[in-house]
Amino acid sequence: MNKENTTNEFFTDWKYAAAPEGTEHIKLNKQYDLFINGKFVKPNSKKYYTTINPATEEKLAEVADANEKDVDLAVNAAKNAYDKVWKKMPAKERSKYIFRIARLMQERAREFTVIESMNGGKPIRESRDVDVPLAANHFFYYAGWADKLDYAFPNKKPQSLGVAGQIIPWNFPLLMAAWKIAPALATGNTVVLKPAETTPLTALKLAELIRDSGLPDGVVNIVTGFGKTGAAIVNHPKVNKVAFTGSTDVGKLIQKSIAGTNKKATLELGGKAANIIFDDAPIDQAVEGIVNGIFFNQGHVCCAGSRLFVQENVADIVISKLKQRLETLIVGNPLDKNTDIGAINSKEQLQKINEFIKIGIDEGAEMYQSSCSIPSKGFFCKPTLFLHTSQSHRIVQEEIFGPVLAIQTFRTIEEVIEKANNIPYGLSAGVWTDKGSKIFNLTSKLRAGVIWANTYNKFDPSSPFGGYKESGFGREGGLHGLMPYLSF
Ligand code: ADP
Repeated sequence: MNKENTTNEFFTDWKYAAAPEGTEHIKLNKQYDLFINGKFVKPNSKKYYTTINPATEEKLAEVADANEKDVDLAVNAAKNAYDKVWKKMPAKERSKYIFRIARLMQERAREFTVIESMNGGKPIRESRDVDVPLAANHFFYYAGWADKLDYAFPNKKPQSLGVAGQIIPWNFPLLMAAWKIAPALATGNTVVLKPAETTPLTALKLAELIRDSGLPDGVVNIVTGFGKTGAAIVNHPKVNKVAFTGSTDVGKLIQKSIAGTNKKATLELGGKAANIIFDDAPIDQAVEGIVNGIFFNQGHVCCAGSRLFVQENVADIVISKLKQRLETLIVGNPLDKNTDIGAINSKEQLQKINEFIKIGIDEGAEMYQSSCSIPSKGFFCKPTLFLHTSQSHRIVQEEIFGPVLAIQTFRTIEEVIEKANNIPYGLSAGVWTDKGSKIFNLTSKLRAGVIWANTYNKFDPSSPFGGYKESGFGREGGLHGLMPYLSF
């Protein structure tokens, strides 16, 4: 903490000293090729694109843009590895490889952490304490299941499917890769994975780690590119299972394009979670939970608590505490350990968020933003509240995927259930109350895949995650997360 002056302004006029994480230890190539059949190979497309640091707009590397031919090579490598090696390998041997990937990830945690924040814009505190440890834990967890599938599904004779085509978004690049790859390997499938176009670097580092782990060639292939590359994976005839996390629009496209095929699918799509605060809730904890639910990670979370429902008789106190807390949030350099809100992932995403902020104002809601300053370079957005919103507002109905919270009040439990459920999505929700009975009542009536009580955004590899309605179907994590990769 820096003491800015020695007068009695000390308590109001102070700030944290900068605490940036070093980047000297990070080794990034100038150019990254495609990881196919255990090697990095040049793309047939001969095309590369630039990936940047959204906090500085500086170039980080050139990354291959895979075309259909490249995807075909990757899928064939995965199919070959499936038929010749992986399917036949005793499950306990498979499990050793998965375990090794987890251990290597822990050993290289610092490198992954820094690259995740550089390429994605998320605060290092989050990539260090959440993304990377959870990604390693997913590999550990599923390493444990690989040789116990017959116990997990007794008398059902679980069989692997073949090649899993996996497409992931930019909000949790490494963690989403782990969520997809670990259960696929544990169940005996091989993989072609495509990271999001704006955040390919930790997936490519993971490719290096997988190569170093000695995993047999072709068991995991990582191809980079845009939507067209993703579509080529989905439509490839030798892909047996599609696992997708991303927008509801693309999820719908994928569902259409695999209709009538034998491909299995899991889709984890958008969300617009309700965070509900009752008057008997521990208010300070709830306010911290709201902040954690929507502002940390810039609201780049499908399960972000982007709608707040606060019981009318405590609305004034909750909103005033929320405004105070907003003022203390530090927006800026993602590599600084004190930063709460880092950079928005891309210029396009920032534009989309700003459009929604304008829509909110035009719809007549009252906007409140933190008075903090934001860096002039890079893509940043101030934490934003909208008061006096109503169910019909677009900022209440649509996913913004940014640090923007729409607030409504309610009087009765029936009213809040009705309002919370009255959206196309159903991924997650939060309930804050002193009463266990209220929690159970709500959890049985809210149409959401995950409901947190007196906490928010808590994850564990053993807990299944997934949605209802337009938030998708299928579960990832836990025992449930094995099922979409098996036939019975
Ligand atoms: P977001 O809006 O969060 O960026 P998208 O759904 O556009 O989400 O992207 C999620 C992932 O889906 C990315 O890896 C992206 O490249 C990929 N993708 C985009 N369009 C398609 C498509 N038509 N088919 C398959 N994958 C796609």
